[in-house]
Order: sequence, then structure tokens, then C-alpha cells
Amino acid sequence: MNIIENDKKYIAATYGRFPVVFEKAKGSTVYDVDGKSYIDMGAGIATTAFGHCDEEYVNAVTAQLNCYAHASNLYYTAPQVQLAELLCEKTGMKKVFFANSGAEANEGMIKAARKYSFDKYGTGRNKIVTLINSFHGRTVTTLSATGQDVFHNYFFPFTEGFVFAPANDIEATKALMTDDVCAVMVELVQGEGGVLPLDKEYVNEIYKLCAEKDILFCIDEVQTGNGRCGALYAYMRFGIQPDIVSTAKGLGGGLPIGAILLGEKVENTYGPSSHGSTFGGNPVCAAGAYSIISRIDEKLLSDVEKKSQYMISRLKECKNTESVSGMGLLIGVKTTKDAKQLCLDCINDGVLPLTAKDKLRLTPALNISFAELEKAMDIICANIDK
Ligand SMILES: *Cc1c(COP(=O)(O)O)cnc(C)c1O
Repeated sequence: MNIIENDKKYIAATYGRFPVVFEKAKGSTVYDVDGKSYIDMGAGIATTAFGHCDEEYVNAVTAQLNCYAHASNLYYTAPQVQLAELLCEKTGMKKVFFANSGAEANEGMIKAARKYSFDKYGTGRNKIVTLINSFHGRTVTTLSATGQDVFHNYFFPFTEGFVFAPANDIEATKALMTDDVCAVMVELVQGEGGVLPLDKEYVNEIYKLCAEKDILFCIDEVQTGNGRCGALYAYMRFGIQPDIVSTAKGLGGGLPIGAILLGEKVENTYGPSSHGSTFGGNPVCAAGAYSIISRIDEKLLSDVEKKSQYMISRLKECKNTESVSGMGLLIGVKTTKDAKQLCLDCINDGVLPLTAKDKLRLTPALNISFAELEKAMDIICANIDK
């Protein structure tokens, strides 16, 4: 069977795929159908948090699969409750709603923000400030929320009510926080936008004004969450307590699950029938997610930070590096080379990185070994300076 040919023949051509056909994988090593091995420095876009076929994860998932794969949300299930309790205990958030993906989690966050404002203030206070260059997903509403013109095409009419502020510009952002605004929604590190972290001062200023004006401070931690940025959630590095956090990607360790974490103000915003999902919080995915979140402890996070420092210093030593950005194991490097070509060169040499705009993006599994990381960085740096 010719996978690549048949992919092109039978699958909608939405993805620019790299020329690698996965056959199997273990930890941070991926093998293709020709038996060639790669060090995985993308982890499925920051998704396989503990690498591939991690034993504890596989055991948790298969144990649940052997009990039951699915129960409608019309019934109670233990894995969902255990995961929700763990997330609330570790974050101080009050309640959880489970979805299946990042975009859906963001839809849920947007709906919760608007409903909070509607319940309290009535109609007309529904605008949401998001940031220029953000990425919030591919549904019609999350495309609307995404602050990049290239995404506002073809699919008209888009959902109304989003205004875009320049990231890290305190005054310009404040000017948009008018009386008809119900929420500010940001990524603390713009992932797809080019691995751009927000300034601490900016985040704190906007957070303060949100609290004063009863505007909900909503954080899209789909990519930055679940240990990725060296804290369980990136907001914890900013010393703030957001009103709503959305997450997905690494939460499921490779299976599809998303969540919104609801803070005190919005803990009762969602009542009966106000939101829902057939698969949301699926027990198999929830059991896998529990095994991920329960293992993100201080030791793991301090290792994430050590690996981060190591990668950043290696990248800065390359003579063709122009800038390095990011947080924890979400790192972007801009070089004098074309990012896509650099990525292909690395793949050719047995490393799987990602790109983000004009940067090479590196998001390895949180538990990648130092030995594998060193080998991967040797190959990446050699290609940057080639
Ligand atoms: C990936 C991503 C999304 C979309 O997640 P999906 O699971 O692909 O729907 C939303 N927001 C951010 C910040 C992301 O990185």
C-alpha cells in the first residue's frame, strides 16, 4: 500500500505533511515504515506529554478500555470525576467542563464568558478582546477569535464580537477594554504565532484592569498547559489566578480531550443544558489524562526547566541563530535559514522538529532523556549552522 499516494487520493488536502510515514514509536523515538528512526522534538505538537507508548499511560488507558470505552454524559463516570478533582486541586479552579479538542475548549470558554456577562448585565456586553497574532482554533467562532487576517477568509459570515489588541502594548489593549467587553482572552506564549511570550508586566496590568471592570481574564493554555512551560499551567509563572483556562493538546497525552477550568466567578455559569458534548471527557481519554496530570510534579517541572535552559543555550551558540524565544519546552528559534527547509533538513538527519511562522519550533516530550535531547540538539545545531 502506498500511504503517501493514497493519502493524497483519499484525504482532504488540508495538511502540508512532512514526508514521514509513522510505523511505531517508543518514548521520544519514532520509526518510519522504512525502519528509519527519528528523535521526536515535536511530540505531536506538544501533545504526547510523556512520549509514545509510555507504560503507565498505556496501562491507565487500556485498563479503562477494558472496563468500558464510552458512557454518555447522561451517566456518572469515575475517570472524569477523578480528573476534574485533580485539576481543581492542582489549580485552585472550581469546576471543569470537558471537551474533545482545543478549539472546542475555546468555544466553551467563549460561551461561558458571554453567559457570565449576559446573566449579570444582560445583552450588549459580549465583546471579547484577543491578541493580534493569536491562534485559538479552526471552528468558525475560534477562527473569529484568532487575531490573524489570513484566518478570516472564505467562511463568511464569521462570529461577531472579537476585537484584536497588539500583544504587550498595555495602553492599546486597555483602550479596547470598553464597557461592552466581557472578556480578554490570551495565550501566554503565542505558539502558532511564532513562540512569542507575553511580558509579565503586560499580563499583570491587563489582569488588574480586568478585575476592576469585571472583565473575565481567560487564558488559552491549549498549547502552553500541562507542564509544557515549566509550570502545570503557564499562568502559574505569572502569579495570577485567571477566571477561565482552556486546555487540550498535552492534557490527553495523545488521546483527544480538552477542558475548561472555571474559576470562582464562573463556577455556576454553566447550568443544566447550557453546554454539552457527546464525547467530552470520554472515560478512556480521561483515564489517560489523569495519568499525565498526576505525574506533573516539582521534579518533572524542574527537569523541564533544566532541559529548556540547555536547549536555549545550545541554540544561542549557533552562529546562524538570530533569536531564541519561548518558555519551558516550548521553544522557537529564528535563524538565517528558511524554517521549513531547516525542518526538512533535520528530518533527513533523524530529528522531527516543528515550525511556527518563520521559526523552528521545538516541543519535545516532557520526559525526553537528556541523552536524547543532546543528540537531537547536535543534529539541529549542525543543520542551523550548515
Ligand atoms: C492547537 C491550538 C488550538 C486548537 O486546538 P485543536 O485541538 O487543534 O482544536 C487552540 N489554541 C491554541 C493556543 C493552540 O495551540
